[in-house]
Amino acid sequence: MNKVFHFDAPRDRYLCDAAVVWCFDNRFQLGFAKFLKRLGIVNSDPIKVAGGAKCLSSPENEGEREFVLGQIRTSIRLHATKRVILMVHSDCGAYGGLDGGFGGDARVEAEHHETELRRAAEGLEKAIPDIEVQAYFVDFEGIWAVELSQEVGVFKP
Ligand SMILES: [Zn+2]
Repeated sequence: MNKVFHFDAPRDRYLCDAAVVWCFDNRFQLGFAKFLKRLGIVNSDPIKVAGGAKCLSSPENEGEREFVLGQIRTSIRLHATKRVILMVHSDCGAYGGLDGGFGGDARVEAEHHETELRRAAEGLEKAIPDIEVQAYFVDFEGIWAVELSQEVGVFKP
């Protein structure tokens, strides 16, 4: 191999502030990354998959869900992760887009995604007890937090 680029990466292991399950749609990368920084998350383990938290709430198949759960468990094992952040977003191709999936109705889409996030959080809490969960819907104007109930043992920000 030929060296084609140089940089100095930190060699120390780190503790992960949050594993983040988000969609790889690049339109929301910058805004959501800024928000994570605002939350004080310095070291994150990003788990970027098409649909984001959809893989936990409405997976295409059970393997998709198991894959994401496996990634979260690995983050916990390697980096002592105690918090998982779930993300879904507007006009997501995995849901058929805003027009295809929700007839262009942003309110219907937002309500649907809130339900999705709650389902994802509950399933995650069952699969990995004692993990703190936060859930966010991202649209073209900002980020919306879902208040998760504490009765099911889910962390409320
Ligand atoms: Zn997406």
